[in-house]
Amino acid sequence: MTTHALGEVKLGPAERASAIVTMAEAELQVLVVGGGVVGAGVALDAATRGLSVGLLEARDFASGTSSRSSKLIHGGLRYLEQLNFGLVREALTERALLMQRIAPHLIRPVSFLFPFSHHGWERAYVGTGLAIYDALGIARNQVRGLPLHRQLTKSRALRLAPALRRSALTGGLLYWDAEVDDARYVVDLIRTAAGYGAQVASRTQVTGFLREGERVTGVRAVDLETGSDFEIRAQQVVNATGVWTDEIQAMVGGRGSINVRASKGVHLVVPRDRIQSSTGIILRTALSVLFVIPWGRHWIIGTTDTAWALSKAHPAASRADIDYVLDQLNRVLAVPLTRDDVEGVYAGLRPLLAGESDTTSKLSREHTVAHPVPGLVMIAGGKYTTYRLMARDAVDAVAHGLDGKVAPSCTDQIPLAGADGFQALWNSRHAIARSSGLHVARIEHLLRRYGTLAREVLDLIAADPSLGKPLAGADDYLRVEAVYAVTHEGARHLDDVLTRRTHISIETWDRGLSSAQEVASLMAGPMKWRSRQVSREIDNYRARVEAERKSQEADTDTDADAIRLGAPEIVPVVVHDTVPAAGDGGAPRQPGGGAPAGAGTAPRTAAAEAE
Ligand SMILES: Cc1cc2nc3c(=O)[nH]c(=O)nc-3n(C[C@H](O)[C@H](O)[C@H](O)COP(=O)(O)OP(=O)(O)OC[C@H]3O[C@@H](n4cnc5c(N)ncnc54)[C@H](O)[C@@H]3O)c2cc1C
Repeated sequence: MTTHALGEVKLGPAERASAIVTMAEAELQVLVVGGGVVGAGVALDAATRGLSVGLLEARDFASGTSSRSSKLIHGGLRYLEQLNFGLVREALTERALLMQRIAPHLIRPVSFLFPFSHHGWERAYVGTGLAIYDALGIARNQVRGLPLHRQLTKSRALRLAPALRRSALTGGLLYWDAEVDDARYVVDLIRTAAGYGAQVASRTQVTGFLREGERVTGVRAVDLETGSDFEIRAQQVVNATGVWTDEIQAMVGGRGSINVRASKGVHLVVPRDRIQSSTGIILRTALSVLFVIPWGRHWIIGTTDTAWALSKAHPAASRADIDYVLDQLNRVLAVPLTRDDVEGVYAGLRPLLAGESDTTSKLSREHTVAHPVPGLVMIAGGKYTTYRLMARDAVDAVAHGLDGKVAPSCTDQIPLAGADGFQALWNSRHAIARSSGLHVARIEHLLRRYGTLAREVLDLIAADPSLGKPLAGADDYLRVEAVYAVTHEGARHLDDVLTRRTHISIETWDRGLSSAQEVASLMAGPMKWRSRQVSREIDNYRARVEAERKSQEADTDTDADAIRLGAPEIVPVVVHDTVPAAGDGGAPRQPGGGAPAGAGTAPRTAAAEAE
């Protein structure tokens, strides 16, 4: 296996094909199933300990929960209320590490205004909590890199957030956390892992396990793009499939050692000018909190928290979800938002370790590592912020199963691709703007998305200046980004570019439809698509957008799910007989063909802040 300098790592079509051949040829030490943040983190952790590693992802990288989060890197105020200081400290330590060393280009500070609706006790209660939050954030000699929280008078709070109704607050408090481009972070993690020798392939599904007696000795997989089946031998397989954990467990048979429940969280995206505020906002709701998070020229607002047992690949937001989020926010806005203000909607599924409690908000967000049979390690639960610790624990479990000594985790020392030298390049942005002929605002955009790898993007523009022009219908982005997504970032379909490499699908009124033709045409060259495939990509994307829009008019989860699943998959996954996957691109399937458990409009159980 060749190890490249990080800047040279490409995840293009040729690299994917060669990774599949390499994985099928020789026995790996570790094979990771799942290309979300946890699987990608496991691949990097294992590769940087010197192990030979492969990673298979059934769909696009980060297409599961890891592109559908609230995008916060945070300690979790809920744990504080539960007096779980250890967990908060751990997450805040990670926050500092990720923000300062591992991915400064993708993680940014964000402030939140907490408006008080009562006099007296609320200020003391929340103020004490935030003082502890700040203090835990400086533990273990970590430099916080974030300002401490501040108490605000009512008039100061209103100056920061004039959108709030005067009668909705008595005062407030301002505190700081961090936000991340969750989908891009996963791609950078995977590129970094590939730079340390990991072989990775998206659109490649694990369909079964190879066994020697009880022991797992590898996986059976199918390249969903070509339909070809193959086997990969591995000394240890790590299952990092989030809400799909139980399905993978079912493939090894017997009673599962980890049970994961899914809880749906829906976010709305509205333009920045709809809410006048120079800070993010956090509101208490009856059962949890609601975040209003600054996101470029937009706000992300969410979330909900309801049990979900329908399609895992395409959780659908219903009218009830959207109305709930709007109602919660409108309690405090001077000018209420309506559905007409909503540009984008997305829904994700929290992988919660199933516990005793019936309400998803009480289920644990901590993670678990299990070793159900020799050769197989399961990792599940947790949250985005602590993915690195989950990965470390999973590879520690792998190390027990490998002969010989394995080095300890060193990912706290490994900046992601694009991170090393980011600050210096950021400081040169005006000079780069002059030499490239692009406006400095464009350079800032590229640096914030690609870090130091922006140099590679600029090289493509230098070779073909037409790539430096904005994309039709989404002029925040440049044409080059569609090309780079294919050649370097593993994008293989139109949806991958419009939804995860860029976020055009949630940041534009037409959800990316007017960019679809140009993006597909730009992808056609490196993907070697004929015009028929270009049309197929566009038709498929349009069908998805239409199905999503219609599902968002449905009153119940069951109806929304059925409508969403009317849009076909561009690359259908295999629905395995033993896999009780609900409708990944077909009619919803449940074990025994019965009605899905928990179908319908589930009760709101809430708990957004605990992600
Ligand atoms: C609404 C919401 C808000 C959240 N907000 C935050 C937040 O602000 N901060 C935070 O820290 N955390 C947050 N979280 C939690 C966080 O997003 C998740 O814990 C994390 O993304 C889970 O990552 P994962 O890798 O375990 O799962 P996933 O990202 O779902 O990855 C699992 C992958 O496995 C693949 N897979 C499944 N089966 C197979 C197979 N047979 N073969 C190959 N691949 C397969 C899937 O396609 C998928 O890509 C939030 C979660 C939700 C739902």
